[in-house]
Amino acid sequence: MRTNTMRKYLIAGNWKMNQNMAQTSAYFAELGQHLSAVPSGVKVLLCTPYTSLSVAVEGAKSVTGLSIGAQNVHEKDTGAYTGEISAAMLKELGIGYAIIGHSERRQYYNESDESVNAKTIKSLETGLTPVVCVGELLEERKAGKQFDVVKAQLHGALANIKADDVSKIVIAYEPVWAIGTGETATPEQAQDIHAFIRSELKAAYGEKIATEVYILYGGSMNPKNAAELLSCADVDGGLIGGASLKPADFYSIIKDAETLTKS
Ligand code: PEP
Repeated sequence: MRTNTMRKYLIAGNWKMNQNMAQTSAYFAELGQHLSAVPSGVKVLLCTPYTSLSVAVEGAKSVTGLSIGAQNVHEKDTGAYTGEISAAMLKELGIGYAIIGHSERRQYYNESDESVNAKTIKSLETGLTPVVCVGELLEERKAGKQFDVVKAQLHGALANIKADDVSKIVIAYEPVWAIGTGETATPEQAQDIHAFIRSELKAAYGEKIATEVYILYGGSMNPKNAAELLSCADVDGGLIGGASLKPADFYSIIKDAETLTKS
């Protein structure tokens, strides 16, 4: 149970490469039937493909308090980086967040802790909230290396960032073996790593900063398991892939978070 925390819940959707513009409009129309305003005690974010961002920013106007994010961002301001999008370009669109270092980007596009760090620094400079993903592979967990892997990714991502800025970063713990597999970390497994991340933040930046940072869980979170995971002391929300694609399922997780804020 989360106690004595000033943090709200952050329920974030990651659509990955799903939903074209027409589907995005339809999604917001349906979500708006469930939800006219984000409940107090909860923050809600949807990270859409670049091509849907404008439609999503427009659609989000019908749900008061709903934020829109991107799934990646480039670390440079401008230049010869074909196919890339800068943080300033996202800001201009009305985007507030960017996912950085998702395991799919680490796996398929060779993103390293160094590039995650550079993207995180550029996002902070530009006023975007970075959602920095960390998490171990199945073989790393089997070898008992999950804490070492997460520690290295965490400190790699946060290198050379001032404590005050660290408090603005969202960390998402996403065990790679649980992403899109239907296999979820148990609440105990999630809590163990979340508490570890918070203790690492406390050791590096002090108690106040460690208390302010949101740590999300991601990996097959869905309406059936969300309440249990969100009840863990150091789980401040979810980064949700598959279940965020259905407005009713996403709404159900938002409701779970709202209910927990009242318990
Ligand atoms: C994700 O894409 O970050 C994710 C956690 O996906 P899923 O919820 O589908 O496992």
